[in-house]
Amino acid sequence: MRQPPAAPPDSSRTLALLAGAEALSRLRDLREIYRHATETVMRFLDGSYGLLFAVRFTPPELTVGLLGCCVADGQVTNWDDVCDGQSWLPVDPLLSRCLHADYGHAATREGDTWRLAFAVGELGQARWVIEIHSPEEPSEADCAALGLFLRCFDNQHHAWEYANLDTLTRLLNRRTFDDDFERLIAAAEQAEQARLDSGERREYSLAVSQPCWLGVVDIDHFKSINDNYGHLFGDEVLLRVAELMRMSFRNHDKLFRFGGEEFVVMLRNVAEDNVKGIFDRFREAVVQHEFPRVGQVACSVGFARIDPRLSPAELLGRADEALYYSKEHGRNQVNGFDELIMSGKLRITTPAGQAQIQSDIDEIFL
Ligand code: GH3
Ligand code: MG
Ligand code: MG
Repeated sequence: MRQPPAAPPDSSRTLALLAGAEALSRLRDLREIYRHATETVMRFLDGSYGLLFAVRFTPPELTVGLLGCCVADGQVTNWDDVCDGQSWLPVDPLLSRCLHADYGHAATREGDTWRLAFAVGELGQARWVIEIHSPEEPSEADCAALGLFLRCFDNQHHAWEYANLDTLTRLLNRRTFDDDFERLIAAAEQAEQARLDSGERREYSLAVSQPCWLGVVDIDHFKSINDNYGHLFGDEVLLRVAELMRMSFRNHDKLFRFGGEEFVVMLRNVAEDNVKGIFDRFREAVVQHEFPRVGQVACSVGFARIDPRLSPAELLGRADEALYYSKEHGRNQVNGFDELIMSGKLRITTPAGQAQIQSDIDEIFL
């Protein structure tokens, strides 16, 4: 016998969900998309707590990484963005059930609270799970309405990827660099402020106030790889270098393909003494890698400290100068702009560059 259709959710909640979907479709920033989707689901279910996880399925292992969590505090929702510290954990039984369920959700009661889980994406290919802690179990109609909202989230994410990722390597593209650059500079400024305000919270500020760095990576003699082995093998080298970047750098470092065989890395909170070692580890991983058909490939790196007073173009210029030094002195090496200037190996010829360097030196010695 056919079941009667489930009663629709009441109209004010449905309207709120629709408004949430409309607002989602206007967001361009990934973290805002994450935040808004999780908060809308939590509010719809009258939840007190919401968590958003990324799902990674590398058979046979199914793992999740926490992207953010929100807590309802009356009318206000507090969101904690934890993208930067993402680490992959085995899924708990509720999330696992939800990821394997045809209808994409699962619920379990723990004391007075229901833990509810909703998968985003097709069965077996879900890319996120949202977990909500709510006083009630949702109705079937609520789940159906949420299913549609979560499809909007999935679509919006696809649109974000299309606009922000490089199609070949899936690293961030040059356009995203400009947006993220502003954010990174803001983070660097905040860290600097925390250091200045340190006072009694000195230990905390030391932990967050390490500088940020910008590195430019360029594959050595890439043109001859294309000429000798063809573009397909050239593309394979680009793909593998991108993969080695993902493996060498940390989750919260930002990786971009700038165009051609040039990549940019933004490192956050790294002590000066460690930067060269971090880039060298990556450079070494590239030389050690056996590339199909091509064999050995090398790359050169130049890096500079991200100084909030410099424009993106000036900073890139500094990292580029250090890269050119690496290219001119044998390739397959890493050089930092500050070190090259201090040791007299690099001279800045433009008046603006000279004035900036002089003010940096004054700051160190006065
Ligand atoms: P150097 O060591 O000085 O960096 O030499 P290079 O040959 O790597 O540098 P050059 O800038 O002369 O050559 C870069 C080459 O990258 C030229 C271009 O044909 C190739 N290239 C640019 N984009 C792509 C791409 O998407 N795929 C492939 N296969 N090749 C590309
Ligand atoms: Mg090159
Ligand atoms: Mg190049």
